[in-house]
Amino acid sequence: MSALSELYEEIRHCQRCDLYKTRTRAVPGEGPEDAEVMFIGEAPGFHEDQQGRPFVGPAGQFLTQLMNSIGLKRDQVYITNVIKSRPPGNRDPLPDEMNACRKWLNRQIELIRPRLIVTLGRYSMALFFPGKSIGRIHGTAQERDGITYFAMYHPAAALHQQSLRQTIEDDMLKIPQVLAKAREISTGQMKPPPQQMSLF
Ligand code: URA
Repeated sequence: MSALSELYEEIRHCQRCDLYKTRTRAVPGEGPEDAEVMFIGEAPGFHEDQQGRPFVGPAGQFLTQLMNSIGLKRDQVYITNVIKSRPPGNRDPLPDEMNACRKWLNRQIELIRPRLIVTLGRYSMALFFPGKSIGRIHGTAQERDGITYFAMYHPAAALHQQSLRQTIEDDMLKIPQVLAKAREISTGQMKPPPQQMSLF
């Protein structure tokens, strides 16, 4: 069993916060162990909770379209959430829940060692860009310790607020360039250069 599969087992049985009492299934995340790009959303919703997979509902369909717009396939990237269990009624995650779950996300980042982390929405952004506002930093990248972080609005925001759709689409179009730069930064530090994903 790979380290990532073992981690998934731990997450599926996790009782570090009360969300285990109301979830149907925990949603650890999915994607290749050597993914260059990791997308981090907020928390599972109804469909994710039913299926145990991240981003499989309407927001997930839009995320897949966005990825495809830059030549990325969903199965080339790693997808997960800040919170691994659905908050009842899709309420916002609580600080205690995010703290309890942080351990899992940290471990996923350690195991996958992505070159680029794309944060989706403000909860994910807050972990890596503390004190920043999404309205100001969406579509911008920051490099730290060999990993590049790129902030985006959550794809569900475009489903609720039509005016954000173009913004999210435009931000996604910046990713190929951001990734090319992330590869330069991380080459020799995080991963060997071969096996780069092809975009376009
Ligand atoms: N929204 C998220 O933030 N994550 C999912 O997995 C689905 C919807």
